[in-house]
Amino acid sequence: MRANQLLQWKLELPEKMRSSVPPVCFRSVLARAIDSNLTFFIKKFIVPVENAIISGVYGSQRILNGKPKWPHYGLDFAADEGTKIKAMLDGKVTLAEPDLFYTGGTLIFDHGHGISTLYMHMQKILVKKGQQIKQGDVIGTIGSTGRATGAHLDVRLNWFQTRLDPATVLNIKN
Ligand SMILES: [Zn+2]
Repeated sequence: MRANQLLQWKLELPEKMRSSVPPVCFRSVLARAIDSNLTFFIKKFIVPVENAIISGVYGSQRILNGKPKWPHYGLDFAADEGTKIKAMLDGKVTLAEPDLFYTGGTLIFDHGHGISTLYMHMQKILVKKGQQIKQGDVIGTIGSTGRATGAHLDVRLNWFQTRLDPATVLNIKN
């Protein structure tokens, strides 16, 4: 299957199934990607928080008041409140909100080629919507804003509407 056919197929899946497309599938898409720039982008990601503890992984089931809830689609980096957060990749800020109900201080970056990243529960946001950011730039600090159980950064990775495991591009072994 060609990469763009597979993408089309994924976009047609219901939301619930789309999210369960495994990372390995994403890798094989990349391997066959017609757009070589996409592979280049993906390889360049850097870890957003140095010396953090991975406190939550992609796909893990959440339990709230004894009831199973939606799975977790992010990768959590636990670190002290105020720890610097760096941009994983060059990109443009498309959303910068200081205090959303669930996700607290939230940033979304557009990286082109359908790739976007999200940063959640941030204490401080040091960039503005529309700003062009370089990889490694400090974009804010770790917090526990929104519905967070402790100080951590939750990062998410999307390829168009498809949620992907950030650990696959950050070379983090779960
Ligand atoms: Zn999380």
